[in-house]
Amino acid sequence: MNLQRVNKYMERIAQSETTTFEPTGEKLKVGVDLGTAYIVMVVLDEQDNPIACEKQAANVLKDGVVVDYLGALQIVKDLKGKLEKRLGGRELLNCAIAMPAGTESSVNTHTYVAEGAGFEVTNVLDEPSAANAVYQIENGAVVDIGGGTTGIAILHNGKVIRMEDEATGGTHISLVLAGNFHIDLAQAEEIKQDYSKHKEILPVVKAVVEKMAAIVKRYVHPEEIDTIYLCGGTCCLTGIEKIFEKETGIITIKPDNPFLVTPAGIAMNCIAG
Ligand code: ATP
Repeated sequence: MNLQRVNKYMERIAQSETTTFEPTGEKLKVGVDLGTAYIVMVVLDEQDNPIACEKQAANVLKDGVVVDYLGALQIVKDLKGKLEKRLGGRELLNCAIAMPAGTESSVNTHTYVAEGAGFEVTNVLDEPSAANAVYQIENGAVVDIGGGTTGIAILHNGKVIRMEDEATGGTHISLVLAGNFHIDLAQAEEIKQDYSKHKEILPVVKAVVEKMAAIVKRYVHPEEIDTIYLCGGTCCLTGIEKIFEKETGIITIKPDNPFLVTPAGIAMNCIAG
């Protein structure tokens, strides 16, 4: 993976949360990521340049499956509306969506949420393949640690050959922080997402991260895989890659901003419209 290229691209994606960039070409691509902790919508131009991005914290999916259809629909409609407003009233037509491993049977629900918000779904892919549209890894493991789930994908010659999904993620870290500091979950989330607090909270959450790495180790073997590539919001945690490296014995790398890798990769796989 060309870390410099990925860092530059992800920085531009992050900037597109607050700045709307001018697209090159007529058509646009949209990625809709329905997550356990966040629903994210990324808009790219035909050349995959970041144009705009919106996200909203949400509690409408569990283990990658939509449990509150109307809630999910409303959020996707709201995000689409916000982006269209930012684009001067231009309608977003097409989108791509992605599914975590093991939730393929829920593809219809995901599709109905996007269609209900007025999109035509032009592609449905698996989440690790979406992440790899950004990373462009030939061989290795992509580990996507989100809010409620951790996706583990083994790539060979640029293709996903094995995928697993485990019910562990950032919510577990927040629960530990809440218990330790005697605060509610919302306050714990706030502390966790504050980079200036990471040094202080790392010793408290280290055991949970080690447990996550131990789960990943069950599927990723050093004789097969020489590098783990991290993505997902939870990997924003400063120093997480070092804990993974120690626990798995495998070189572990992440970009400066691993949060929006999967949603950006989903958008790259949309047919522009
Ligand atoms: P899932 O993949 O489980 O469906 P998701 O797609 O909603 O969930 P992401 O959007 O990749 O997951 O990540 C959300 C998680 O990332 C949340 O638990 C959030 O608290 C955590 N997170 C976001 N920013 C940071 C940060 N700066 N430091 C630590 N954790 C963070």
